[in-house]
Amino acid sequence: MALAYKGGACEICGYNRCVRALSFHHRDPKKKDFGLSAHGLTRSWEKTRVELDKCALLCMNCHMEVHGGVTQLPGETQVEKRGELS
Ligand SMILES: [Zn+2]
Ligand SMILES: [Zn+2]
Repeated sequence: MALAYKGGACEICGYNRCVRALSFHHRDPKKKDFGLSAHGLTRSWEKTRVELDKCALLCMNCHMEVHGGVTQLPGETQVEKRGELS
């Protein structure tokens, strides 16, 4: 349900071959990412959906790239670039 809501594919590269390789990335770095494990969605769908609106669905590769600063989320205007990870 959560996957379908987010389009079921990576928002960056469109990867959708294996749902296990997809994960949610929270746009607010203060909040934690949450996974797709079977027991992960114990909260109500309403609450989950609110959270999903703040998240991007990414495949593992793109997710790691975003965290590594290599890739930016679509629609994200990140003017500042951090050089520390070069
Ligand atoms: Zn991807
Ligand atoms: Zn993330």
